[in-house]
Amino acid sequence: MSFIEENVQRVQARIRAACERYGREPEDIRLLAVSKTKPVSDILEAHRAGLREFGENYLQEAEAKIAEIAPLPLDPAPQWHFIGPIQSNKTRLISRDFDWVHSVDRFKIARRLGEQRPDDREPLNTLLQVNIDREPQKAGIDLDEIPALAAQIAALPGIRLRGLMAIPAPRSDFDQQRRPLRALRQAFDALRSDHPACDTLSMGMSGDLEAAIAEGSTLLRIGTALFGARAPKTTGNPTP
Ligand SMILES: *Cc1c(COP(=O)(O)O)cnc(C)c1O
Repeated sequence: MSFIEENVQRVQARIRAACERYGREPEDIRLLAVSKTKPVSDILEAHRAGLREFGENYLQEAEAKIAEIAPLPLDPAPQWHFIGPIQSNKTRLISRDFDWVHSVDRFKIARRLGEQRPDDREPLNTLLQVNIDREPQKAGIDLDEIPALAAQIAALPGIRLRGLMAIPAPRSDFDQQRRPLRALRQAFDALRSDHPACDTLSMGMSGDLEAAIAEGSTLLRIGTALFGARAPKTTGNPTP
């Protein structure tokens, strides 16, 4: 078995064990493979191992990979999620080439994404990014800004508001990990009572997927545990 195949099985076993422990159903939890900085060959290997959804942070890098993979006869076709910071001059390509975007935190960006969504594609599945630990260097809105922004964005053509995403500050203690995730879950429950179509809570990474499952995540974004450590990036945005 290859390194990535083995990792896929290991991560799936972690997900099953956490589901068992916290009374969740594995079918209710999607596994997004975060392939930033990793080559197309790794993505193809993860696809062969059964993964279907891939997350990218850097648009230029993502565009090259999507273009290389698009002509290949992959069945089912991979779904692409944009999970990195969004500059307004990048919305056209994101809206054209991605199925999901997790990192919307401004109305203007959402409006551009919606306007630029090609007519022959389904509305762009959109999550609001919440800066759950209020870290100055991180993107995202505060919890109390969710209702107003959600109401504005839910009304946009070309956009389908699906839920929330957050990247908590790294913590190693399990109970400490759970606290911000629980706050996000509570905000998600409130969001759903106003917007019943919201069904996606994107939280949980390689180091906190168990805590995220315990607190109600429906979509885990996993990089390192699937593809191995990433080399530090020398240009562009810092890797969160
Ligand atoms: C890189 C990244 C991940 C994956 O993190 P790992 O710790 O490698 O699993 C998840 N979400 C976002 C937004 C990222 O940038």
